[in-house]
Amino acid sequence: MSRGHTGAMSDAPRTLALEHLRAAPGERATGMVPVNLGSATVQIPVVIINGARPGPRVGATAGIHGAEYVSIAALRRVAMSLDPAEMTGSLVASLVSNPAAFAARSIYVDPLDGRNLNRTFPGDPAGGPTERLAAWLYANIIVPSNRFIDCHCGDMNEALVSFNGIEETGDPDVDRVTLAMAQAYGLDYLVYGPTPGSTTTAAAAAGIPAVLGEVGGQGLWPEQDVALHAAGLRRALHAAGLIPDPGDGPRRTTRVLHAEAWLRSDATGFWHPTVGVGERVEEGQVVGEVQNAFGATIRLVHAPMPGVVLFIVSSLAMNTGDPLLAIAD
Ligand SMILES: [Zn+2]
Repeated sequence: MSRGHTGAMSDAPRTLALEHLRAAPGERATGMVPVNLGSATVQIPVVIINGARPGPRVGATAGIHGAEYVSIAALRRVAMSLDPAEMTGSLVASLVSNPAAFAARSIYVDPLDGRNLNRTFPGDPAGGPTERLAAWLYANIIVPSNRFIDCHCGDMNEALVSFNGIEETGDPDVDRVTLAMAQAYGLDYLVYGPTPGSTTTAAAAAGIPAVLGEVGGQGLWPEQDVALHAAGLRRALHAAGLIPDPGDGPRRTTRVLHAEAWLRSDATGFWHPTVGVGERVEEGQVVGEVQNAFGATIRLVHAPMPGVVLFIVSSLAMNTGDPLLAIAD
């Protein structure tokens, strides 16, 4: 359903609005929202749901990285299946937050300027395309919200264990809500730590409880992964105070991890990891090697710390400066 602007008479105090979209209490509205990025205008599919009763506003994004399909499919499923009559508060969901990256099947970056959107928040409305996109999402989805959820997965070239990410703000009220949402989301691991320039770090800096969810990857969207992510999202929305308990059955056992190390390649060649996602490694252990075109080892890659392998780049092609894998403990 797409609802046009219906004039000032409909803008009663409890009407939820975003650009041209309007939803009265108990209504859902959907539509493509144009965002001017300077060199191009993109169309972002947005769902706004105004619950029957007033309550917290929850902002949610997927597709910040355009080829992370499990998260895009899961947020779309949840946003289109919630019953506004049962909701206390509102949801504003951006289903494909970087449309140019989605269309180009682009890994990591926005093809309009080659920048990583999730390292660009809170953005700059007078900057380049990715900075403008970040600024629009920050102003329209993140800042007006009382709680924020960003849905990701491994990119087209990444395999990962399922995990939630949060950080501590020092404000006990914010941190309590953040932790409750992350525990309800309930993926395999809960990883603490800021990621400068990311949606969730920008939200936390603005005093908004914010949770990252990561399930699946490698350019696939198997039903098992979409269902796992969607169930976690619904539980997090319940913890946010938005929807009744979805009663999704037993949770996974979440393990908490604090320190995190991202390994990047200092060589270009063929990447051969020797560990798997979710595997426990020791400090100094060989976790993979970069080979030249003829199979000779040009770099051995060692774990800089003990911990669990969170994600692994799964493409054979490797470039200097590219991520290899991440370890957390
Ligand atoms: Zn991502």
